[in-house]
Amino acid sequence: MRVLVKNGTIVTALNEYKADLLIEDEKIAAIGTGFTGPFDKEIDATGKYVLPGGVDNHAHFEALNTDGKTTNAGYDTTYVALLGGTTTIVDFCTNEPGMNMVDSVNYRLNVRAKDRCAPDLAIHACCTDYRGQETLDEVKTLVEMGVPTMKLFLAYKGTALYMDDSKLLAFMNEAKKHGMTMMVHAENPDVLDLYRNSMAEQGNLAPKYHYMTRPPFGEAEAVSRTILFSKNLGCPMCIVHVSCIEAAEVIRKARSEGAPVIGETCPHYLVLDKHKMDHPDFDIACRWVCSPPLRDQEDRDYLWNALNRDWISICGSDNSSIPLYQKHWGENDFRAIPNGCPGAGDRMNALWTYGVMKGKMSRQKMVDVCCTQPAKLNGLYPRKGTIDVGVDADLCIMDPEYKGTISVETNPTGIEYNVYEGCEQLGRPDTVLLRGHVVVEQGKYLGTPGGQFIPGKPYGLAYDLLK
Ligand SMILES: [Zn+2]
Repeated sequence: MRVLVKNGTIVTALNEYKADLLIEDEKIAAIGTGFTGPFDKEIDATGKYVLPGGVDNHAHFEALNTDGKTTNAGYDTTYVALLGGTTTIVDFCTNEPGMNMVDSVNYRLNVRAKDRCAPDLAIHACCTDYRGQETLDEVKTLVEMGVPTMKLFLAYKGTALYMDDSKLLAFMNEAKKHGMTMMVHAENPDVLDLYRNSMAEQGNLAPKYHYMTRPPFGEAEAVSRTILFSKNLGCPMCIVHVSCIEAAEVIRKARSEGAPVIGETCPHYLVLDKHKMDHPDFDIACRWVCSPPLRDQEDRDYLWNALNRDWISICGSDNSSIPLYQKHWGENDFRAIPNGCPGAGDRMNALWTYGVMKGKMSRQKMVDVCCTQPAKLNGLYPRKGTIDVGVDADLCIMDPEYKGTISVETNPTGIEYNVYEGCEQLGRPDTVLLRGHVVVEQGKYLGTPGGQFIPGKPYGLAYDLLK
């Protein structure tokens, strides 16, 4: 297969220039002008921007719910990522019931995701069943399998997800020996329990009490504690889904002092307001329940600035498409609403519309936080996350002229709703290529699932900070 992408403006994290791209056998074979045919396909990108395909650092597809049986939306909905210009998702693999992490990764790749994942797929391990040394011994094997990252939940005490500090410390000690990057969901569980339970005991059970009972200081405390551990143990970390000034300030300060810590935020914390959850109709209000919760305008202003200054380095979607019937489990008590919002399809669009088009972020920076830095963190770079000779021909060709209003029909999520419903959209991925194959054309998904597992290498981006 020889494909020519001509007349576009190529954007990478470092520069922007007009050139044609020649693709051969799934890779970018050459960048320049005057390539001669024959070509199997020619794509005219006149007036458009040619970005690397997005790398989504934070996806939960077919993730087990707390009931241990049902899942959120499955891999057959991952095509939404391609529609949104994301060609690689890094999905979290929690323990399957009764399986260790290694078997759970194999089960995810060979059963759950098999022939169903539309974009390419990389995996973060996520320990939800800690069994001492035998669990720690899995770290080495996971790294050898191409899974060099692992997340622990410091919140959700009383569920299988919760990992206390002794487990976090044990993992950090093991991870640094093998170049694994540890990641944490940082919220102090005791702060949450105190506020949530007392609010509920007073009869305050509507969705809005979700954001009222997860104060920024609870997030900042867990971030501080994790970074203190990280510095003292010499284990690089990524703090995922940073939502507020207080938590991001801890990361900014620690990075200025040389701590090996990378921060991630998400598009919903950059664009959406917590008052979405004030809606009197539960069926509407419940859609924005995610953790940490949506915050305020000051937080959004701070987070845009933090991305621009590399205090926070990555924007991941935290996609968790929870169907409404599952959200309704919390109809009588906000504490039982499953946490999570869809977003894999809207991540690049949100950053382009509300960052690039609104003058808050350069195109290069958008590529950096959506493609390049996440590829580096996960050991996928340079195969993924940039445009260069020899790398996978994953491209997101942005049409800057598109104007629309987001709905679940225009921007599908795999479930019944889109949390950006009614928001303005400026620009969209017109054509998307996955390893040289056109998978989206004129904003329409064409393909049958062709995603492959892409093994990550250890000693990712966070380890560079140790040098
Ligand atoms: Zn998440």
